[in-house]
Amino acid sequence: MGWVHRRRDLGQLIFIDLRDRAGIAQIVFNKELHPEAHSKAEALRSEYVVAVEGRVLRRQKSNPEIATGEVEVMATRLHILNNAKTPPFQIEDEVTASEETRLRYRYLDLRRPRMHRNIELRHQIVLEIRKALDEMGFFEIETPMLTRSTPEGARDYLVPSRVHHGQFYALPQSPQIFKQILMISGMDRYYQIVRCFRDEDLRADRQPEFTQIDLEMSFPRQQDVFEVMERMMERACAVAGVRVKGPFRHLDYKDALRRFGSDKPDLRFGMELHNITEFFEPARATLHFEGNVQAVVAPGGATFSRKQLDELGEFAKSAGARGIYTVKVAADGISSPLEKTLGAETLKHLVEAVGAKAGDLVVATAAKDQIPHTDTSLGVAGQLRLHLGNKLNLIDRSRWEFAWITGFALFEWSEAERRWVSAQHPFTGIVEEDLEKLETAPWECRSKGYDLVLNGNELGSGSIRIHRQDVQARMFKALGLSDEQARERFGFFLDALTYGTPPHGGIALGIDRIAMLLAGEKSLREVIAFPKTTAAQDLMADSPSSVSTDQLDELGIAIKKTEKGKAAGDEKL
Ligand code: ASP
Repeated sequence: MGWVHRRRDLGQLIFIDLRDRAGIAQIVFNKELHPEAHSKAEALRSEYVVAVEGRVLRRQKSNPEIATGEVEVMATRLHILNNAKTPPFQIEDEVTASEETRLRYRYLDLRRPRMHRNIELRHQIVLEIRKALDEMGFFEIETPMLTRSTPEGARDYLVPSRVHHGQFYALPQSPQIFKQILMISGMDRYYQIVRCFRDEDLRADRQPEFTQIDLEMSFPRQQDVFEVMERMMERACAVAGVRVKGPFRHLDYKDALRRFGSDKPDLRFGMELHNITEFFEPARATLHFEGNVQAVVAPGGATFSRKQLDELGEFAKSAGARGIYTVKVAADGISSPLEKTLGAETLKHLVEAVGAKAGDLVVATAAKDQIPHTDTSLGVAGQLRLHLGNKLNLIDRSRWEFAWITGFALFEWSEAERRWVSAQHPFTGIVEEDLEKLETAPWECRSKGYDLVLNGNELGSGSIRIHRQDVQARMFKALGLSDEQARERFGFFLDALTYGTPPHGGIALGIDRIAMLLAGEKSLREVIAFPKTTAAQDLMADSPSSVSTDQLDELGIAIKKTEKGKAAGDEKL
């Protein structure tokens, strides 16, 4: 039984490719041998659902392209179980339809073998994660979907209460508070494959609802959380035939920025950044640049055409730089538009300092610092590094480079709110020695947080938590919450902390992203059965949608006419 994938009518013989989840099988209808079945088969069209009775025979000429290519079914009887309208696009991996059409007809899109493969892979990954965590003593525990705001730094999705007019549930941005409470409850090791909701303006690699593997454990050292995750990821990757082995490498946040210009560095290639500000310093006024100057060496880049260099300059500008400075290294010497300004001698030293060889191009860029205490030039050069790495094919796609990033600052400055906000969330632990600076020098406080990065993608983050009530209360205060506000929002949690809270810590990784990378896909939408568009819409179910006045009345809600898209600013505690 299955779907008619394709039909070929040769008069005496009709062939159909019959498709189901497992793949394709060839069916033959022979007019002479089985006239009744053959005549019925004349009516078949793409995507009809049929049942075929017959005998499996060895094919005269096998088809090595498909798994069932050695055999075919000689049909004796045909049952047409359902007909089908002509689909808006062919059910094939090479789909030419727009993504909008694919999403509108998602049930047809999902029939494509590639989507079946992705969904199956995702299932296998999640299953393996569950097995691995079960073996390591974790309980899967569900936490509420109708809850109250959790401060992960995004906007909440709100659900109005019918029973309590004027009151709202929030859909969880993460189960953060609940999983910490589960540690207070003595559950020791918790995990959950859980949907989280964040109402943010969507970028290509975000979904408003997404799935996390969320985890928390009691009495851990940072190392314990890392080991659990490494074992889990080794097994999840193995499902996709990707062999990785812990321990994953560790990188300090500052080093990651300094060397790769990113807190989620792609470690599949080198091309590290060099701070070459000192060589430019004397010419700061002449060249009119601000901030630091960072350089990368593009191997073989000395042959770049004018057009390629212009394109590189445009890219740097779009990344926030004023442009690029280049130095060409050839066998017969160094050449650069900077020769007059910096002098041949300085250029020579610069080339030595960055280790450029004949045939290379030194690409340097400067950017004015945007935020206090952050070197913007690093981020810009980091983007340039990735861009060049891609252009020059330096990224080894067969490598899977995991890294733990540690040593984050606890706070970051929010220019919009003109105050310090949590770099992660307000439950992240503080390095003990820095506790005394919480009130006096928050920018110096180091966090007990960590990120897991894979091939330049942040898979997720976690931390050893604050487990003392007094510290948590000071933390809320440092974030600008008054005692009343802290009690109003987190009173239940502060109370819970006072009843014997064990030290605890955990992490959450994005399942969609893991599945996307292991499936070799570029978009999260390729590994989510029913995803949303970047405008946060479900094109198939046509949601969001308006609701009836009756429904609104029941909830005690009236719709205000506002300018579309005008919403309150992000709240990040
Ligand atoms: N709740 C955090 C998040 O969703 C992860 C964690 O700290 O465990 O990013």
